[in-house]
Amino acid sequence: MKLFKTAKNKNSNSDELIFRSVCFLASVFTLFYFLYNLYVDRTNGMKIINSIGFVGFTTIWMLTSFKKLINPLKFVFTIFTLIIMSLGWFYNGGSEGAMPFLFQLGFVAFIMIIENKYHFYIFLLILLNLIIVSSLEFLYPSLMEMYPSDNLRKIDVFVANFISIIFIGILINLLKKNYGKEKEFAMQQKEELEIAYKTKSRFLANMSHEIRTPMNGMLGMAVVLGKTPLNPQQKEYLNAIEVSGDRLLNIINEILDYSKIEAGEMSYSQKPFSLYQCISEVLDITASKAFEKNLELAYWIENDVPRIIIGDFDKLRQILLNLIGNAIKFTEKGEILISLKNIKINDQKAVLQFSVKDTGIGINNKDLKNIFESFQQLDNSNRREYGGTGLGLAICKRFINNMNGEIHVKSELGKGTEFFFTIEAGISEDKDINDFTIPKEKLPIIENKKILVVEYNDTNRKILDLALSGWGMLVKSFKNPKEAFDFLTNTKSDFDLALIDFKTKPYNGLELGKKIKDKGYNFPLLLVDSHNELDIEEVSKFFRFIILKPLKGHLLFEIITNTLSDVKFDMVTKTKKEPLKQEIASAVPLRILIVEDDLINQKLAVHLLGLMGYKADLAKNGEIAIQMARTNQYDLIFMDIQMPITDGYEATKAIRNMQNIKQPFIVAMTANVMEDAQIKSKKVGMNEFMSKPINVTNLENLLLSMKGRTS
Ligand code: ADP
Repeated sequence: MKLFKTAKNKNSNSDELIFRSVCFLASVFTLFYFLYNLYVDRTNGMKIINSIGFVGFTTIWMLTSFKKLINPLKFVFTIFTLIIMSLGWFYNGGSEGAMPFLFQLGFVAFIMIIENKYHFYIFLLILLNLIIVSSLEFLYPSLMEMYPSDNLRKIDVFVANFISIIFIGILINLLKKNYGKEKEFAMQQKEELEIAYKTKSRFLANMSHEIRTPMNGMLGMAVVLGKTPLNPQQKEYLNAIEVSGDRLLNIINEILDYSKIEAGEMSYSQKPFSLYQCISEVLDITASKAFEKNLELAYWIENDVPRIIIGDFDKLRQILLNLIGNAIKFTEKGEILISLKNIKINDQKAVLQFSVKDTGIGINNKDLKNIFESFQQLDNSNRREYGGTGLGLAICKRFINNMNGEIHVKSELGKGTEFFFTIEAGISEDKDINDFTIPKEKLPIIENKKILVVEYNDTNRKILDLALSGWGMLVKSFKNPKEAFDFLTNTKSDFDLALIDFKTKPYNGLELGKKIKDKGYNFPLLLVDSHNELDIEEVSKFFRFIILKPLKGHLLFEIITNTLSDVKFDMVTKTKKEPLKQEIASAVPLRILIVEDDLINQKLAVHLLGLMGYKADLAKNGEIAIQMARTNQYDLIFMDIQMPITDGYEATKAIRNMQNIKQPFIVAMTANVMEDAQIKSKKVGMNEFMSKPINVTNLENLLLSMKGRTS
């Protein structure tokens, strides 16, 4: 057992100093008392005790110069002091004399030299000693050697008091100095830590830039390669490159986000946006993964949730992507339900609660506590199977806290997990934003119309019931196609419309459709499907439309109203559009300049634009770009930022200062995704900011959006 403070670090120096000072003061104190006793001519016993004390304390004090001995000496000091004080009790007037003060003094000295956790034992020891000596005094008064006179006792008490006060004063002063040093040391350490943290974050941000540049080349070239003739095996290899690249990019993004948060460089925007669009985008991205695993994906938004809120669209999207992504990752069977409700609302603000609930592997209670800590991946065996950085939830929590919200989780092993979080958001009535509400004027078309719903998934069926009856439809829903068919034939009831899920059991929705049509019913049928792999010709014999999951309220409403009012439209709801259209260039003809120093990225940009039908010019640094912009009328310039000779900022400034040219649209294209790069590029006059690796859909959208801007 380590009873005394050890000499290990910087603090140990001040510990030593205190101990040496205590020994020194004890030795001075006993010397003083010895001389004083000589002077007042007191009992011999007292003189002897004082001289023993003086010799003992001085020896201990001198031995403290051997550092190794310090800890055992603290022990020796404690016991020796107690012995001297106990002897003094009998030769110095006991409880009536100066001894009680000296016991207190001893107690303070022990407290100062001995580790905090043993203070209680020291207290007990000194108290026990006090009880023993005062009991002896009480039982055997003859043992006491009394003072020669009352006056002398008074002087003694006064002197002991006086010395105690000075002694305690000196010790307290020492303690304060010691504490001050510790505080200074702690502050210094804190500063050093902060600097180290910021340096680390900056380093990560720079690394991310360095990694993004070659990744842009890799991923972009994979897209270009995909447009060349490939055999199935080669296509599979290419797909593997793309999937791995995306995963790598995701990891880099998470690390970058996390370091931005840690460095205090994350900024949050406050702009109006459509909540429905945010959720819908997340569903579009995650749906294919969920359906690949045969999972159901459904969402439910309460009616009173405001449609347009003010906040940070991208951050909310990222939170939902992470939670839904995790839910899909950790669920093998069942469903994922996203729901959204309003828990508080006034004119300007709403507190919204989102929930993402899965029927996956669950999380055990022990792990739930740490789940929002960074780098937490619960079961190590998961790591290899599922991948990930363990940063996603930590980032979500920071984002949510920043939106004045909280995130919590409920889970049961083997049954599933529910993450729910709140955010506080301003409410907006911006008329320019599509809020995806259903057009109320069309409600009469569907009100009181009878609809048959056959959906095997309970959650989806409930949601459909709620939504359809909310629009005023008369809903009859079934889980089992057989029961639905029996109901139809037995009750001879007629419907205006039927919504049938493909994945029903014991037989699928397509067969049910066939049966209904074979029986001669001629109300229109809609088929709901998640895979988009059905034979359209076959389906169209019985069904009017195929609606792809996840079902979106406003789209479903449009399809139902169109069906009931007999409007014609495509057989399948469109989900993804084919990227890279040759026609873009003929629809939006543009003179384009690419300013890029990296050789592979130059080739990539030329190829990508080439696939859309453009023939772009190339400049390998800002200097050349300035000259080319002066002599050619470019509509659009893609400008890299970090370049030798003249960088993108300088080049843009120079182009913006040119008087007699038609000013081009300038897009920053950079792997530096830090906030300051975006702000700076706006400041020098760039119109848009695109981060590398280039997202082909974003590029297409940008080119298409140039239509109104040119000519
Ligand atoms: P990662 O990027 O590694 O998934 P996260 O921070 O998003 O990191 O998640 C941390 C860990 O929490 C995961 O590795 C997983 O063990 C657990 N986890 C998160 N979501 C779920 C879920 N829906 N079901 C079960 N476990 C989950």
